[in-house]
Amino acid sequence: MDIVTQRVLEDAGDVTRVMADLNAVCETGGRFAGTESEVLAREYLAKRLEDIAELAPERIPIEDMGWTRGEAFIERISDGKVFPCVSLVRSPETSEDGIVADLIDIGRGTEADFETHADAISGNLVMVRHEYMFAAETTHRRQKYDWAIDRGAAGFLIASHLPGDFPVTGSSGAIPTRGIPAAGISAKTAASLTAGDKKQIKIRIEAKSEPRRIENLILDIPGRNDEWVVLSAHIDGHHLSESAMDNGTGLAAVLNALRAVLPCADTFERGLRIGFFTVEEWALAGSAAYVDNMSDAARESIKLNINLDSVAGDPEVTALTSGFEKAETWMIDQAAGIGQKLGAHRPLMRNSDHYNFARHGIPAARLVAGFDKPNSNLQYVLTPADNRDKIDAADMARATQLTAKLVLAACNAKT
Ligand SMILES: [Zn+2]
Repeated sequence: MDIVTQRVLEDAGDVTRVMADLNAVCETGGRFAGTESEVLAREYLAKRLEDIAELAPERIPIEDMGWTRGEAFIERISDGKVFPCVSLVRSPETSEDGIVADLIDIGRGTEADFETHADAISGNLVMVRHEYMFAAETTHRRQKYDWAIDRGAAGFLIASHLPGDFPVTGSSGAIPTRGIPAAGISAKTAASLTAGDKKQIKIRIEAKSEPRRIENLILDIPGRNDEWVVLSAHIDGHHLSESAMDNGTGLAAVLNALRAVLPCADTFERGLRIGFFTVEEWALAGSAAYVDNMSDAARESIKLNINLDSVAGDPEVTALTSGFEKAETWMIDQAAGIGQKLGAHRPLMRNSDHYNFARHGIPAARLVAGFDKPNSNLQYVLTPADNRDKIDAADMARATQLTAKLVLAACNAKT
């Protein structure tokens, strides 16, 4: 290993500094988009970027965004018992009387499950299961929600995969022109609702759609040519926890990888662009707005997107490489060059901001910890347990070193 790389790795692996940023981000709260907590986090990140790079990031507002969660509950009609639930992001609200219908439990909620129960779903409330999100075989919540709408469901419930009283949250994927009320519940609530044979329930959701100031932060460190490497992480999270793994880890790793590589930046061939996107938890809306609104030429100038989302919580890190074989091999080689084993999963996955780059043909990969390890701490993402106690400082430091190495190599590459 050359002396420059060695120095960068030492800097990137500074546990005290990377954990200080992780702590500061988590202190702002769960960072649900449009809340005070997200604003605090965004301002912290903007200030840190300015301190590190001596340059203020550009703020790019995202139009037509804003959704505020109100009260939500479920009532069992047979005995009037009330259960808590968490409305999914951007769920439409119900009328004041709520929706009263039969609860149709279709199990996991695969396409085949929807097929099997097709006749019962229309006009009723369909219930599916949340899944460990970081696995090859996962069927995403938004896909299930979409199938429920296609089948004419009146509402959508998703029960946690974790036993006990852990409610689950996430985005519904609803947009103003297409959506049904949707909520997450714990496994315990699901069991209570499906016990016995009278399964009529009422669901009531309050929510408000109102414009909010929502901004992506973009910082450019130019290189010698006009090509760019985009290093990204999403700012926003959910209100149930500190959103520590998802995505405090990615934010802290980006800041510290930037700090570590910056002394080498004056010899970069390609420029380094930092993208802190928001409303990722709202069906990837922040990065979609950013990439979709670029000119073709600006998009073509981006040669690689490295997207950090939930990069610690387990020692093993995997690159989700979106079908880009060359980028995958290259990333594995770079990791091996610093003695790290990087896993890889090639099929395109729509589970974070890299997707919006990849669907425009830009080589893009997400780094994620705990892939295909359903018993790792990553199982607590989107639940009240996604807090700092799930994160090992050594894992944070290693993920930051890997990021710094990838950025260094990608920005120094001539083609
Ligand atoms: Zn995430």
